[in-house]
Amino acid sequence: MKEISKTKRKLRMGMVGGGLTSFIGPVHRKAAGIDGEIELVCGAFSIIPEESVETGRLLYLNPNRVYNTYQEMFEREKDLPAEERMDFVSVVTPNHVHFGPSKMALENGFHVMVEKPIAFSLEEAKTLQKLVGKTGLLLCLTHTYTGYPLVKEARHIVATNQLGKIRKVYVEYPQGWLSTLLEGTGNMQASWRTDPKQSGMGGAIGDIGTHAANLAEYITGSDISEICVMLNAVVKGRRIDDDCSMLVKFENGASGVLFATQVAAGEENNLNIRVYGEKGGLEWRQQDPNTLILKWLDKPTEIVRAGQKYLSDHAKAFTRTPAGHPEGYLEAFANIYRAFSRAVRDYKPGKRINPEKYDFPDVSHGVRGMNFVTTAVKSANSNRKWIKLKK
Ligand code: NAD
Repeated sequence: MKEISKTKRKLRMGMVGGGLTSFIGPVHRKAAGIDGEIELVCGAFSIIPEESVETGRLLYLNPNRVYNTYQEMFEREKDLPAEERMDFVSVVTPNHVHFGPSKMALENGFHVMVEKPIAFSLEEAKTLQKLVGKTGLLLCLTHTYTGYPLVKEARHIVATNQLGKIRKVYVEYPQGWLSTLLEGTGNMQASWRTDPKQSGMGGAIGDIGTHAANLAEYITGSDISEICVMLNAVVKGRRIDDDCSMLVKFENGASGVLFATQVAAGEENNLNIRVYGEKGGLEWRQQDPNTLILKWLDKPTEIVRAGQKYLSDHAKAFTRTPAGHPEGYLEAFANIYRAFSRAVRDYKPGKRINPEKYDFPDVSHGVRGMNFVTTAVKSANSNRKWIKLKK
């Protein structure tokens, strides 16, 4: 059978991780399906082979394309005819299993969508960056929150200088779900996140601090340059930080405060950000994502709403529902899938794709995230006031 051009068919996705009892894999599958442009064709869904098989069965996949291990998946998929084999893989495993599948995918000619943090260590992240550079293949990192239409609007407002020069940034990610020693009860998500051998050197700082830092950098358009950090393991018996507070300096001269905690009892996913410039400020809250508040020095506060005609063209392009019909987490994820899949469709061997044109987080953000975690741990263990993030 002749291969049909990627511009005239659904893209074929494989998945590593995302077994029946997992959290984020099913979210990815729903998000990838929202626009009808992507189909799941294969997977190695679990560390437990029987669970991988059962997941494939419940998703009505061809049993021949449900694999026991990711190694087997890449070996077999690369030998399939071009008109059948997957185009890209989604890696939705715990942090210590991001590098292996992402590296093997790139080495075998597949594009990669990978969960954050991109890898277990900065060294691994840099290896992936080199591989992306060498192969020209695409790697997308699912920093979900940059997919919300009003986060894109906030970035646009800062980029078009409506707030004036940015001076102050407050970004907070409080959660409460690790307020007790949940890992002691056998909870799968808590167990690997609090085990430094699976999570990496950072606990809360890697799991949600990276989201907060990425959101602040995305909206301000400026990288974090220096940090002064306190990390705590608050819950007795916990082996890794569950709480983090830091002072932050940005390359554009702004300063800020970032905190990320998993022991703010009663909090859900209360990610929120406030950015202030010379002329005014903006405020966005993940738990009310269709509202953006603009505050002005010399006029009344404005409430900006998703789906409205007055939004920038870029924010409108990432909106699916009319104003007042709420869009949320799944659509934000779907926006990342859509931006990435457009780049995959445009990809041709030998042609360099610029991820910024499509607006999805890429390998450079992954390296920045690991640099951020590594520097935060270094700062927390040091008596020095400020530590620079390495370039
Ligand atoms: P989870 O524990 O719920 O699920 C992990 C899945 O990976 C399980 O099905 C497990 O069997 C499978 N797995 C483990 N090792 C494997 C291997 N070698 N081969 C195949 N499958 C394997 O974890 P989770 O909460 O879904 O988190 C997964 C990743 O997603 C983490 O890196 C986390 O940081 C990230 N995450 C991101 C967001 C976001 O908003 N972007 C939200 C939650 C989690």
